[in-house]
Amino acid sequence: MSRYRLLPAPAQQALLRDHCGHARYVWNLAVEQHAHWHPGRKGAPGYLEQCRQLTRARAENPWLAAGSQTVQQQGLRDFARAMTAFFDPGHPAGRPSWRKAGRDEGFRIVARGQQWDVRRVSRHVGQVWVPKAGWVRFRWSRDVPPGVKSYRVAMDRAGRWHVAFAVIPDPVPAPGNGQAVGIDRGVAVAAALSTGELLHCPALTARERIRLRRLQRKLDRATRGSNRRGRVRHAIARLRARETDRRKDWAEKTSTDLARRFDVIRVEDLQITNMTRSARGTRDDPGRNVRQKAGLNRGILRSGWGLLVRRLEDKASGRVEKIRPALTSQRCSACGRVDQDSRQSQAVFRCTACGFADHADVNAARNIAAGHAVIARGGDGVTRPVNREPHLLLQSA
Ligand SMILES: [Zn+2]
Repeated sequence: MSRYRLLPAPAQQALLRDHCGHARYVWNLAVEQHAHWHPGRKGAPGYLEQCRQLTRARAENPWLAAGSQTVQQQGLRDFARAMTAFFDPGHPAGRPSWRKAGRDEGFRIVARGQQWDVRRVSRHVGQVWVPKAGWVRFRWSRDVPPGVKSYRVAMDRAGRWHVAFAVIPDPVPAPGNGQAVGIDRGVAVAAALSTGELLHCPALTARERIRLRRLQRKLDRATRGSNRRGRVRHAIARLRARETDRRKDWAEKTSTDLARRFDVIRVEDLQITNMTRSARGTRDDPGRNVRQKAGLNRGILRSGWGLLVRRLEDKASGRVEKIRPALTSQRCSACGRVDQDSRQSQAVFRCTACGFADHADVNAARNIAAGHAVIARGGDGVTRPVNREPHLLLQSA
């Protein structure tokens, strides 16, 4: 997502506010319908049924009918997507909740497939198409990425409008070499590959971190509502944005590289219960420097790792397999022996049975690559080894 400052004319602002109101209305309607649902009950209405209800609601309600059907349907589709994310163990997300006026103001538009939804009119000004409002100007602060699939128009609490463009990357063709790679979300590094490569997700430099800490102390001291406080907050936001940009860039490059090199990419199944596995130190593996590592890992988990997996799923669509990470760190990838004593430290694995030694995260990545402990989506959750040939998994190479 790349965000730009939107500059609607006063008449357009009124229309955009209406769109926000409508989008919030249909979203909250959907939340209400789903609020009464729980496992075992007859299902709450799905997207198609909700669309039919929307048509009826528009017929009965002139206020809603005056708005854009596109915006309102998209609101429902966003809700359906949020529900899917909520039920997907791979992307733990909260249950979609109520949207409040003044706080969650925004709506999404799906691009009509051609670049004419977004155009540049001068060096610093672009325009984006919004139903009923027409072309709305925005500040062309950097190039709009090609292949915009949708965009979200939102108003922040200060009343400023923004537009964010979502780009879904094109799939990367599989190399057709039959090779599978395992990636472990590392403890000592950001990610380890079964090939032995260690991937480092860039963060702020030591110098930038010091500056960030200093700014945060300044912020604590600054008077609420003062100009100084505003400036400090802005500087902090800029530093954080820089870090985010670096992570995004890393995830883009790394995912493209992996999708190009391997036919099948196996990753740990990211589950909330598993998130703190590493830093807190398991019973057998009490972590050293736990506090620092906890902070570091949280950061990586929050953005770097999740983003990498999402990008892999976009680019290597259908070629990413989720592996249950149970015992991957205690199992010897050479002889298969599971022994917690083999994990000598955060970084070192040495098999107590065969003596095989490797970087602990690489050993785990090798187990993941071998596809041990696969959980099929919607399966029974029983751990079992799966010995499938990678090329059999590919519909088309
Ligand atoms: Zn061994």
